[in-house]
Amino acid sequence: MSAQKPRYITTTLPYVNSDPHIGFAYEVVTADALARYYRLLDTDVFFNTGTDEHGQKIAQIADQKGESRQMYVDHYANEFKKLADPISGLNLSLDNFVRTTDESHKKAAQTIWKKCADKGDIYKKKYSGLYCVGCELFYKESELLEGNICPIHQNLVEVVEEENYFFKLSNYQSQLEVYLTDDTRTLPNWQRQWALEFVKGGLEDLSISRQVSRMDWGIPVPGDSEHVMYVWFDALTNYISTLGWTEDPSGNFQKFWFEGETLQLAGKDQVRFQSVIWQAMLMSAELPLTDTIVYHGFINSGGQKMSKSLGNVISPYELIARYGVDATRYLLLRHVHPFDDSDITWERLDEWYTANLVNGLGNLVARVMKMAETHLVEPVIRPEASVFADEYINAFDSYNLQQACDYIWSRIGALDERIATDEPFKLVKVDKEKAIQIIKELVLEVYVIGRLLYPILPETNKIIKEAVLTNKKPENLFKRLEC
Ligand SMILES: [Zn+2]
Repeated sequence: MSAQKPRYITTTLPYVNSDPHIGFAYEVVTADALARYYRLLDTDVFFNTGTDEHGQKIAQIADQKGESRQMYVDHYANEFKKLADPISGLNLSLDNFVRTTDESHKKAAQTIWKKCADKGDIYKKKYSGLYCVGCELFYKESELLEGNICPIHQNLVEVVEEENYFFKLSNYQSQLEVYLTDDTRTLPNWQRQWALEFVKGGLEDLSISRQVSRMDWGIPVPGDSEHVMYVWFDALTNYISTLGWTEDPSGNFQKFWFEGETLQLAGKDQVRFQSVIWQAMLMSAELPLTDTIVYHGFINSGGQKMSKSLGNVISPYELIARYGVDATRYLLLRHVHPFDDSDITWERLDEWYTANLVNGLGNLVARVMKMAETHLVEPVIRPEASVFADEYINAFDSYNLQQACDYIWSRIGALDERIATDEPFKLVKVDKEKAIQIIKELVLEVYVIGRLLYPILPETNKIIKEAVLTNKKPENLFKRLEC
């Protein structure tokens, strides 16, 4: 029996109209590190990610390419799934990869719709919007150029009227205010305050369907074949459909959403969707709200937003190709701020890699295990699993993996210093017994460091533990960069 409540962790689902980008890689690696940390504490974990696959943009791209929409999304879902690969991806310990085109997901989206409709929270209304025929999209006035011109097509958009379904978001204003006043549930605090202000400013009901005649790549609205769901009820329901809601054949929904602790990770542009709309849907469907939602910042490069036109895009696969799987995880988790925007460049990534992995951790393990291999006649006895230090626990409890890494690297630094001070490689010539005692202590600390690394660098964790238990210096943990 595990002592702690089961833990559910999910990322947002990326929309499959482009390849995985670094912001999502950061989010999913953070989720993975947390999942691994909880498992280290013997907690039952369910770790979810997946892909968001409906909507006009996808239908358009697939149509333009002359591909079937399903084939198109299958291809992209696969590109995202590859991120989980232990050798060519980010080594994600996923429990499920949900796709919004999964039959079980579609059913769940229709069920939550029905529940909210039964509650009286969904109604039909004439909707008048600014519509670009070329984009096949409704725009807000603020998204258009001067004089209601489409920013993409440079043409005048039309005022189009259609009947759509709406969700009474406004019914949940006061409940949302209560939810957002609890400062343990939305992090960091400035995002919570933003959401609270947004809700206090008054909520407009939400358009949640599109007429099939205009857009048909979506989940049918229950009982109305003229409409498909637009975004919200389709995409956001994944957080519970992945657990098997509503039938719950595995019992995972009961275990993780009802009885467990639920955690959602998302980018800072998601606050309105995750903390407001999704929570209101849960309120309407009378389901437990998300326990905690944590928002991260954006990753820029060279002081600018990454963009194809600037040529400064750094893709997760490029990182993996240059540094390897574990090192990429390290670079994201240690050198990207957990809540604020961050800036990375190839120069800085190279520096961090060389200083902290090649010369830091890699060199330390090699030195200690070389001494152990030379001077110890047998492996040290595997140390008992001990309680983690408060710094380590607090870092994970506050979803700050940068701090967790800082703590581990402070122990790496301290061990380096101890070797420099004690000089066991010299001492062994004059006081062998004492030197061997020191080497044993060094090896034990290397083992502990390896154990602490598990959530961050799972493969390195394995290699270090194996090296200690077989008393053998491992191959270079991190290769030196050649150029
Ligand atoms: Zn347009």
